[in-house]
Amino acid sequence: MKMHVQVISIFPQMFAALCDYGVTGRALKKGLWCFSSINPRDFADNQLGYIDDRPFGGGPGMVMQAGPLLAAYREAQKQAVGPVRGIYLSPQGQILTQRKIQELAQASSLILVCGRYEGVDERFIELSGVEEISVGDFVVSGGELPAMLLIDSVLRLVPEVLGDSQSVVQESFVNGLLDYPQYTRPEHLEKQSVPSVLLSGNHQAIKKWRLKMALSRTLHRRPDLLEGRQYKPEESCLLQEIDQERQDVSI
Ligand code: SAM
Repeated sequence: MKMHVQVISIFPQMFAALCDYGVTGRALKKGLWCFSSINPRDFADNQLGYIDDRPFGGGPGMVMQAGPLLAAYREAQKQAVGPVRGIYLSPQGQILTQRKIQELAQASSLILVCGRYEGVDERFIELSGVEEISVGDFVVSGGELPAMLLIDSVLRLVPEVLGDSQSVVQESFVNGLLDYPQYTRPEHLEKQSVPSVLLSGNHQAIKKWRLKMALSRTLHRRPDLLEGRQYKPEESCLLQEIDQERQDVSI
């Protein structure tokens, strides 16, 4: 069953960035996923389509009303097929990770609710039962860009969306490590040359070098990713090599 992505947004045109370009745009044209949007303004209780109001208790800005959002969400649920995940993009949610993306890629339908203004009336979250997901510890003006990040990363895991299925297997975070450094032509650029092992044609040596680089990068840039990792014997040997090289440099 192809994945059905529905977004609830007052700016559905923004999703052209996802539907018309690159990997996700191509996949949409090939029918590997389908996209639709619901505008909560269509469920406004007034002729002008206002769906925001001032916060009770005072304070700056406006809040999205629960009623139109809930009506839009229930409409999306009616249109969903198979296992569905309902998500409200929120800076207060659980941080999005590759593991979460892998979990979401198992769903047949995603309903993504994009907030605006100061956020949404809390009762929408309680009554709809949506899960809150954040794209990081920072605040953007609306849920559309966070939703696009989530959709793009989920679609990369949908079979046939990427030209080469190996791309997904070798990426950062997939096996708990950052990716190894990549090089392409030219072989020499200013004072920098491509590491000779990559030109050797020795696939075993290339594989080992790449694993070593991935381990070394993760150790230096994101040691938190390695906490609690069960190292394979080959990885333990490479870590010893990395440590030894580090000691040799500091002598
Ligand atoms: N007042 C809210 C707060 O401090 O939690 C922030 C509201 S923000 C300006 C408007 C909308 O942008 C939110 O309702 C949410 O949908 C979206 N948003 C902002 N930052 C986000 C993040 N880090 N992750 C996911 N969505 C985010």
